Formats: sequence, C-alpha cells, structure tokens
Amino acid sequence: MKKIGALVLLMLVFSSCGAAEIEPETTPAATASPATAMATTSTGTAATTTTATTTTAITTTTRTTASTTSTTTSTTNTTTTTQRPSSNPSGAYAYDYPGIAPAVAAVPGDPYLIYVSRDYALPANYSPALEVCVESYPEKIQMEAAAAKQYKAMYDAALAAGAELVPYSGYRSIARQKSNFDRLIQTNVDRGHSYAEAVNLAAQEILPPGCSEHSAGLAMDITRPGYWDTREDFETTKEFAWLTAHAQEYGFILRYPKDKFARTQITYEPWHWRYVGVGPAKVMKARGQCLEEYLGIA
Ligand code: ZN
Repeated sequence: MKKIGALVLLMLVFSSCGAAEIEPETTPAATASPATAMATTSTGTAATTTTATTTTAITTTTRTTASTTSTTTSTTNTTTTTQRPSSNPSGAYAYDYPGIAPAVAAVPGDPYLIYVSRDYALPANYSPALEVCVESYPEKIQMEAAAAKQYKAMYDAALAAGAELVPYSGYRSIARQKSNFDRLIQTNVDRGHSYAEAVNLAAQEILPPGCSEHSAGLAMDITRPGYWDTREDFETTKEFAWLTAHAQEYGFILRYPKDKFARTQITYEPWHWRYVGVGPAKVMKARGQCLEEYLGIA
C-alpha cells in the first residue's frame, strides 16, 4: 500500500539522458509550471505526493560519432547469443534527414533483446503492447507490457528493502520523438543555420526518431525521492545500490555503464535501466557484459 512521489513528464525538461541518449521529455512549448505526480505500485494506494520544483536541465553535449567499423568476433569466446542485429534489407530509415541514416533494427525472436541505438532505429511502425506501470499526473508512465509488470515487481521489492525507485521517464513514442526532433531542427534554422547544420546540431542533443530504447518501451529512467532530474550522483544512492545488486533478478540491466563507453558510445547513465528479460540480464550481470558485448556487436 505504497505510493511514491514521482517526477512528471510535464516539466520543461530536456532529459539529460546522456551524451547521445538525450531526449526531451515533453514539448518545449509546455508551460514550466510545477507539477505533481503519483506513482502507483501494483498494490496501489496513495501515500505520498510530491511537488516537483521546476527544474530545467538542458544538457548539451557533443555527439560522439560512433565507429562504423564492424569486426567479426570470434565464436570461441563466451558470447552465447543469438539475434545479432542486422539492418533490415527490405526497410530503410523512415525519415529523411541529411546525415542521419541508421540501419533499421531487425526485430529478433526475443523482442526484449532488440538492439536500438544511434546506428539502429526501430522500424517506423514499431508499436509495442504497452501497459501503465506508474500512475502519474498528467501522464501515465508506460512500458512494454511484460517490462511494465517486471518493473512493478522490482519497485515493490526495492521498496520493501528501503529503496524507493522513482520512475522518471518510460515509454516515449517515435512520433513524439520526431516532433521533438523536428522542433529542435526548426529552432536551429531560426537561429540562422542551414537545414543540414540544423539537423546535425539537433542530433547532438536528441536521438533521431526511432533511435531510443524508450520508444521500444523497454527503458526506464529512474531517480529517487528528492531528485528532480536524472543525475549522475544517483550512483551514490541506496536506490542505485539496490538496483545494482538486484535489477537483473527482474530482467533489467544498467544499459550504459561507466566502463563500457567504448562499446555503447553513450556516456555513463546510472539512471537508464533497460529490460532485456531475466535470463539475459542475469547472464550479462554474471559476465560483466553490456548489451553490445552480450549480443556480439562490435
Ligand atoms: Zn533513458
């Protein structure tokens, strides 16, 4: 019978979701008014409501260009899987932006292992079955259905251990991401940049449409009470310590670990947790692998 105070998506915040994983949570045109949210656990009753102060966290970082070099890994190592991503031969990136041309991710047999990144976009029509995992106002936080159930179970277990996971951002549609991306392009054009420059600058702040795990419904940005944004010092909290010890039991992994930048090409994000399923999560945890290593992606 717990409820947690949560942040809301209505904040005028560009989620500081790492160097290249940054995505606006909502429309910049939204009024920057404090908002409240209540996150409901699977057991469901309100206990706490917290008012979010208006926090603006616009992070602009330089995009690191991912290496396009692909190497074939030896099969003599311990990598076991599986659905190595490949571009969809029958599909191309659905959006026409100069200089932006990710391959279209193949949807593997196990959809929870889909690989989404700056270089692999979700198919334009990708629409996971969603389920609300956090009741909040004005917008419910959703994840893909199985991931949402596991998230709720994880939340309850963490809370029982004295760690209150505050969900910050879950599913975001590709359409919404495109809208945000297009708006940022227009802002840059209005500032005098050429269209190509405007696109490039936008891509330094926001992942292009389809390139975020949040649009697959498989990622949750997690904070804790008192944090009104995703913050790197989340790593010092008991919530992070609990996640580090137990998230794999619920199928979640820390997607962009501090020591894996060379593989992920995304700077450390202690708040971004990805659902991959319990089996794969436990294997990755035991081996100390990030998703790229587990999937055998160079
Ligand atoms: Zn995230």
